[in-house]
Amino acid sequence: MVAIDGPAGTGKSSVSRGLARALGESYLDTGAMYRVVTLAVLRSGVALDDTEGVSRVADGVEVAVDSHPDGDRAYLGGEDVSREIRGDEVTRAVSGVSAIPAVRSRLVDLQRQLAGEAGGVVVEGRDIGTVVLPDADVKIFLTASAETRARRRNDQNVAAGLGDDYAAVLADVLRRDELDSTRAVSPLRPAEDAVIVDTGEMTQAQVVDHLRELVEQRCGAIR
Ligand code: C5P
Repeated sequence: MVAIDGPAGTGKSSVSRGLARALGESYLDTGAMYRVVTLAVLRSGVALDDTEGVSRVADGVEVAVDSHPDGDRAYLGGEDVSREIRGDEVTRAVSGVSAIPAVRSRLVDLQRQLAGEAGGVVVEGRDIGTVVLPDADVKIFLTASAETRARRRNDQNVAAGLGDDYAAVLADVLRRDELDSTRAVSPLRPAEDAVIVDTGEMTQAQVVDHLRELVEQRCGAIR
């Protein structure tokens, strides 16, 4: 199992998918799972600061995500919500919802179950090496400056037809970094045994190659 953590905009999703493809393994996007729960909370009408109400929604929600590196579908109770979970409303609310302990424990259990069933799997998120899979064979923490990450996110938004607003994206990146790294439960931080990789000056293909080498060095013998 490979754990890949890091903040938004480090190229984490593309790199994690690329690595899973290169290794012939499954892929689990845990951020998509937090986004699906957040969408369920928004649709339920429960106030985002109503911790008990949000926890209740999270408890009853049926979350599913594609496990193939070439698939990017996410489902809420069987409904395909892949596009909606990437929208502004969910992106604004997701850090708050994912800071609630009951939301995290529900999803961490599900993530461990899915990773266990998948066998060889690349799991990406914020707390995979520290909390979800502390015994992962390889732990990687991707970084890049906030400006680089915001530029990449904004380019993705433009390509997906979701608008062009670098300043707003940078503000959102900084706000989410702050929320994700200061929350009481599972804050975003590298595991002690994680390899830290700065992707700022690297292309995606270079990062995938580098990670594949790391995985081969570390666990060539057990794969
Ligand atoms: O990776 P993505 O940007 O889609 O994640 C959305 C949000 O979900 C993050 O900003 C973070 O608040 C939350 N998250 C988390 N733990 C994870 C994955 C995502 O708290 N393992």
